[in-house]
Amino acid sequence: MDLFEEAKLIEPEIIKNRRALHQHPELSYEESWTSAFVAEKLHGLGVEVKTGVGGNGVVGVLKGSRKGKVVALRADMDALPVQELSDVSFRSKIEGVMHACGHDTHMAMLLGAARLLADSRDELVGTVKFLFQPAEEHGGRGGALPMIEAGAMKDPDVDYVFGLHISNSQKSGEFGVKEGAVMAAPDTFKVRIVGRGGHGSAPHETVDPVYLAAHVILALQGISSRMIDPVRPFVITVGAVHSGTKENIIPDFAHLEGTIRTLDETTRRRAKKKVKQVVAGVCKSFGASAEVEFEEDAYPVTVNDPRTTQSVIRLLKQIPGAKVRKMDAIMGGEDFSRFLHEAPGTFYFLGTKNQAKGCVHPNHSASFKVDEEVLKLGSASLALLAFEFGKR
Ligand SMILES: [Zn+2]
Ligand SMILES: [Zn+2]
Repeated sequence: MDLFEEAKLIEPEIIKNRRALHQHPELSYEESWTSAFVAEKLHGLGVEVKTGVGGNGVVGVLKGSRKGKVVALRADMDALPVQELSDVSFRSKIEGVMHACGHDTHMAMLLGAARLLADSRDELVGTVKFLFQPAEEHGGRGGALPMIEAGAMKDPDVDYVFGLHISNSQKSGEFGVKEGAVMAAPDTFKVRIVGRGGHGSAPHETVDPVYLAAHVILALQGISSRMIDPVRPFVITVGAVHSGTKENIIPDFAHLEGTIRTLDETTRRRAKKKVKQVVAGVCKSFGASAEVEFEEDAYPVTVNDPRTTQSVIRLLKQIPGAKVRKMDAIMGGEDFSRFLHEAPGTFYFLGTKNQAKGCVHPNHSASFKVDEEVLKLGSASLALLAFEFGKR
C-alpha cells in the first residue's frame, strides 16, 4: 500500500480540518472547542475516544486486525496570544489569538493519519493511540504531564511515541530529524533584589537595587562564557526588568525574569546553581540580598531515542519525494519530552518554508503562514510510523 498516494486523496479533507482549526484558535488550558472538534472527527472514523484526559486532552485508540506493539502519535492543540497579520482567507476569528506555532496543522495532520490508518485497519498490526495534547505553549506544567498522570500512556501501555512539528526555518517538504537531544530544557527564573530605598540625590544612604540589577544582568552572561563547558550548548537571557517609579527615588526592590536553555542534565544542574551563586554574590558585595526562584515544573530536555530515530530516518526516506535532513538541536522547549520519558520515540520536524508562497515568517510570528502542500506528507509519515512500529 502506498500511504503517500492515499494521503494525496484525502488532502482536501486535511486542509479543510486545518483551516477550521485555524479559525478557532484557543489558548493553553482553554482548548474546549478544539478538543470537541478532534473528538468528533475521531468518532467519525470509528476510533474509540476518551475526552477530558488531564484537562482538555483527547485520547483515541485504534486497534489493528492483529496483535502487535502500541504506537502513540501526538499532536498539540493550543494557540498563542498573537493578533494574526497573515494574508490568508481563513484568518483567525478570535481577537488576539492565533495558531502561530502551527498546532492547527499538527492536529490536521494527525487526523489525516487517523483516517489513513482507520481506512487500512485490516492491514494494521498492533494498536495506535492518538494523543491530542493541550497547553504545550504553557512552558511550566504544560499539558503532557497531566495527560500522563491521567493514564494516557497506560492501558494499553505505549511501546513507542512519535510527534511531529512544522517549522518555517526548514525548507518546505523537508523532514528534519536528530538523534539524542533535539530540544532544550527551558528553565525560567525570577530574581528579587532587596536593597534599601531613599533619595536619588543621596545614594550613599541607600542600597540601590536598580544599579545592582544592571550588575547582575551583565554578570549572568559570565556563566555562559566562563562557567559552562564551551562544547555544551547554553543560553541565558534576562527578558524582563522591573523596578522603580520616578527618577529621583531609589527603590527598595528590583525584579528580573529570565530563562536558561540547556541540552543535558549536567549542564542544566550546574547552570541553575551558578545563577543562584552569581546573583547572591553580586548583591552581597554591594550590601543587598537577593532571592532566586526557578520554575519547578519546567520541561525536561527532549531526547530522541537513538535506535528508534535511526529507523525513523530510514522509514521517512521511503516516502516518495520526501527529503530527510539531519538537523541541529533547537534551544526552544517542548513538553513532548515528557512522553519520551515514558516510552522511546522521536520528535521530528517538517519544513514549510516557501518563498514563492510567502511562507517565510518564523513560528510564533503574527505573519506566520504554512505551505499547506506539505500536510499530506506529514499525515503519511505519521501513519507510516504507526504501521511499521506496530509490527515490531
Ligand atoms: Zn510554539
Ligand atoms: Zn509548537
